[in-house]
Amino acid sequence: MNIHEYQAKELFEQYGVPVPAGKAVQNEADFASAIDSLPDGAVVVKSQIHAGGRGKGTFTDGFQGGVKVLESKDQAAGIAAKMLNNILVTHQTGPEGRKVQTVYFTEASDIEKEYYLAILMDRATGGPVIIASTEGGVDIEEVAASTPEKITTVKIDPAIGLQAYQMREVAFGLGFSGDQLKQMGKILSGLYKMFWEKDCNMVEINPLITTPEGQIMALDAKVNFDSNGIFRHPDILDLRDLNEEDPKEIEASKFSLSYIALDGNIACMVNGAGLAMATMDIIHHFGGEPANFLDVGGGATEENVTAAFRIILSDPNVEGILVNIFGGIMKCDVIARGVIAAAKNVEIKVPLVVRLEGTNVEEGKRLLNESGLAITSADSLSDAAQKIVKEVEAAKS
Ligand code: ADP
Ligand code: MG
Repeated sequence: MNIHEYQAKELFEQYGVPVPAGKAVQNEADFASAIDSLPDGAVVVKSQIHAGGRGKGTFTDGFQGGVKVLESKDQAAGIAAKMLNNILVTHQTGPEGRKVQTVYFTEASDIEKEYYLAILMDRATGGPVIIASTEGGVDIEEVAASTPEKITTVKIDPAIGLQAYQMREVAFGLGFSGDQLKQMGKILSGLYKMFWEKDCNMVEINPLITTPEGQIMALDAKVNFDSNGIFRHPDILDLRDLNEEDPKEIEASKFSLSYIALDGNIACMVNGAGLAMATMDIIHHFGGEPANFLDVGGGATEENVTAAFRIILSDPNVEGILVNIFGGIMKCDVIARGVIAAAKNVEIKVPLVVRLEGTNVEEGKRLLNESGLAITSADSLSDAAQKIVKEVEAAKS
């Protein structure tokens, strides 16, 4: 799960990582009071979306830059009004971009130098790793490709945690000494504590900066939480912004369905990710195009199957549905009852082909045949795929 920069900075403050003062708002009516709450002088107006590269991004109406550093507060409200409810496209959003629904006003810092600092969960070592670089404000992937010697990597043993010598190694790698060494110690221990206590996958500061007075602070903040650990952190779950997620995928996640929309016209409802992939392949093989990937999981209930139909049918491109279920732990008659109940609950106006195989398959097929619903039953995977492709074609002509 991701959160916004302004939320991540509130967490940073709790863990003693210095950030500039700021205020996030969702409505134009609140711009003036938010701007007033900041000290006089230069300010930065920052679009809040769950994607990076905002500074170099472009809005779909041509307005340049999702992050604007301004000399004074005078223009801040005008610039924020251009960002709010506008669509920002960055190299991380894809061409469709993201709608900006929150704007963050923050104090502008004098930047002497920009650095990069992150803690990630490293799958290779099975523990946290600190990555730091003297090249900040640019993508770390670019630095890794062109000047890897500018990156310091420190692996942490999760059983003993971050050690003082490791903090010095990171700080020395960034060229710090004296008082800045102490500041880095505080930042690193706070950041690591947060990473550990909040079950993070990643905490990234790009840029971490030094000011001409020698202060070190975080100007950007990106935090990703391990969704497997999120149940332990109701305070973090409160920070979830559903505006940043695909509505069909949110709905699917409520019913433990793995759903990804694709651009074809034949919807698939399958149990098991491997079978779902095979089903998509065979639809393609017989000349159709899958409208989605959908794995209803091993323990699909009538309620889950109904929700799956509703999600599938909310996609206007869907012209036919192929249900392909292998009854293993799940019995075919249970699935058949789920399909019948769902077909009665949700009006299905497109052809529906059902292929069942496995435990209690005969009973399942009998239930489908006797349901009185317009369900075409299929005997094998290729039979099912051919039938749905044919029926979709026939429905068009
Ligand atoms: P993104 O990474 O999405 O482009 P950042 O928050 O990193 O967004 O902002 C882009 C750039 O804007 C930073 O690299 C920094 O140079 C500048 N910037 C951001 N916040 C501030 C700030 N509070 N004061 C001064 N400059 C800032
Ligand atoms: Mg950044």
